[in-house]
Amino acid sequence: MKHADFLIVGGSAAGTTAAEVIRSLEADSSIIVVTDEPHEEYSRVLLPQYVTHKVERENIFLKKADWYREKLIELIKLTRVTKLSAKEHKVTLESGEEIQYGKLLIAVGGFPLKLSVPGDDLENIHYLRTLEDADKFIESSKKGKKGVIVGGGLVSLDFAEGMRANGVEEVTILVREPYYWFGKLDRDSSRIIKSVLEKNGVAIAEGEEVDHFEGLGKVSKVVTKSQKSFDCDVVGVGIGIKSDFSWLEGSGIKIDRAIVTNEYLETSIEDIYAAGDCAQFHDVIFEREHIMGNWANATSQGAAVAKTMVGQRTVFESASFYSDTFFECKYSFIGVVDDNFADKIISRGSVESGKMTRIFIKTIGSVMIIVGATVINNPANVAPLTSIIKKKVDFSAYKEKFVDLSFDLNDIL
Ligand SMILES: Cc1cc2nc3c(=O)[nH]c(=O)nc-3n(C[C@H](O)[C@H](O)[C@H](O)COP(=O)(O)OP(=O)(O)OC[C@H]3O[C@@H](n4cnc5c(N)ncnc54)[C@H](O)[C@@H]3O)c2cc1C
Repeated sequence: MKHADFLIVGGSAAGTTAAEVIRSLEADSSIIVVTDEPHEEYSRVLLPQYVTHKVERENIFLKKADWYREKLIELIKLTRVTKLSAKEHKVTLESGEEIQYGKLLIAVGGFPLKLSVPGDDLENIHYLRTLEDADKFIESSKKGKKGVIVGGGLVSLDFAEGMRANGVEEVTILVREPYYWFGKLDRDSSRIIKSVLEKNGVAIAEGEEVDHFEGLGKVSKVVTKSQKSFDCDVVGVGIGIKSDFSWLEGSGIKIDRAIVTNEYLETSIEDIYAAGDCAQFHDVIFEREHIMGNWANATSQGAAVAKTMVGQRTVFESASFYSDTFFECKYSFIGVVDDNFADKIISRGSVESGKMTRIFIKTIGSVMIIVGATVINNPANVAPLTSIIKKKVDFSAYKEKFVDLSFDLNDIL
């Protein structure tokens, strides 16, 4: 049976960073990374720019085969891990082969939730998570004239820009909720997003939920529960992600919304760790259980857990940060953006100006701290707000001034 001192399942942001940091700390230990994808590490974050042809395919790859050889990291590609036997310290691969480990890192991320409605197996209905997904989406979009996107979240913006960049003439996003990004943004911030989309030839149909797809082999129509019908020849679906933990069944590992870890990213079972999108960790900044779905977090967790795995126990501590651009709009989500966690939300900006910053405030005793922020088209607010959140600055003296756009947030620091 093969043996690895450090076995890593998942070869993306969290897994590859962990392998790299372990190697930098342990020259002689054996490291194996198993991935079910056919590639060395590539950037998922660049996929939106790849589908809009701003980035060439070869520039998406972050690591070449030589890198793994030089670092003495064995990469097993195109192979799924199908079982964990924690007591025996081993995993089983889909081929039936087993690998014994000293320490195991689970870095399996997530996969897109499938929309399960009649007609969901028709051609030209796309999801976006892998490079292959992106290739197929580009191919359909180049031939398409009318596009429909299902879901009002991050990936829908990538689909919208991708369709327009590939010549799709009419694009409509179907959003089940009353407005785009309901639950993450307020109505005014959402209006700004909507007007950017509309300026760029993308319509939003709010309160519309897909009932079924129609078509002969290829999709030609989306019909919603309100019986509205949208002609289309390409569809993008972005309704959330989920992790596949079926291979962990019976292992005894604690799973809640994701794999439960403490602040060291240690799971409930000794010698097993989790990092990245699949980890539900104890957040020491805000003292709560948290899952972060972004690249920077996945690499930071990979680096922190690597130290812990080699015996240098390291607390993972970071405020969540997600920033992106679609068409000409820049947006960022910083820290905890959750109405249920915050006591108060204050906004600066307006729909007319196309700029809006919202801060989420929590009062602890006599101290008011900002726990999170959403920032649309106000890039100058991002750096100071990130520092204010991380440093847990008492904001009580500034809450009246904040609404005044001329007030420089750097003055608080
Ligand atoms: C289109 C798109 C755009 C994005 N844009 C941004 C952005 O602008 N900014 C940002 O911060 N984040 C962005 N993200 C999110 C970011 O890519 C993820 O947060 C990040 O990739 C998470 O890294 P990870 O290592 O935890 O997991 P993943 O990147 O999901 O990697 C997990 C890997 O494990 C493999 N795997 C799963 N199960 C098994 C198994 N049983 N056996 C073997 N291998 C397995 C998977 O196939 C995958 O290769 C974007 C994501 C997408 C899809």
